[in-house]
Amino acid sequence: MRPPYLLLDIDGVLIPFPNADGSTPATHARHDVVPTGRSADNPVTVWIDPAHGRMLMEVIRAGLVTPVWCTSWRQDAATLIGPLLGLPPLPHVDLPRPRITTSHPNGYLWKRDHVDAWLADAPAVWIDDDFTGLDHAWAAERTTRGTATLLIQPEPRVGLQAEHLAEVRAWVRRLLAVRTAALAVPSETEAA
Ligand SMILES: [Mg+2]
Repeated sequence: MRPPYLLLDIDGVLIPFPNADGSTPATHARHDVVPTGRSADNPVTVWIDPAHGRMLMEVIRAGLVTPVWCTSWRQDAATLIGPLLGLPPLPHVDLPRPRITTSHPNGYLWKRDHVDAWLADAPAVWIDDDFTGLDHAWAAERTTRGTATLLIQPEPRVGLQAEHLAEVRAWVRRLLAVRTAALAVPSETEAA
């Protein structure tokens, strides 16, 4: 089986939002990056936890998921953020740049319709800090239709935690166990 996709957001997941006093978790190191379209004298400051790179590489090396960036950083995720975490170049969902003033213009995450089309009927675990109840309903409905879908929603001021990736591993292993059991049924029938 092709491993399920791991869709990975950046802001609020790998780059935590600052607290009200402007502080960020002590685990994160400051970097200045220059996103596509900005000039070198106008960089963006980001806060990155190197432990995230190690944690993600463990999941990627285990071959449990097919990792894909799903972020408004778009291709800059692979060229600017991934290297800060020691990640190899990963593909990204090519999200548009809608003129929206909220992440939920229709009551659900703006990325979702694009992700839904991009995934087609592929199983996926999606880590993003910005899902609404409608997104969780979408995932539940997709799963009910037979396309396993898991949403993991870190707290945006804290970001990705080890337990989130433990949940990814456990979910993929359950998925594999169910599929293996399903594959075993015909041969058992044959044997009978
Ligand atoms: Mg986000």
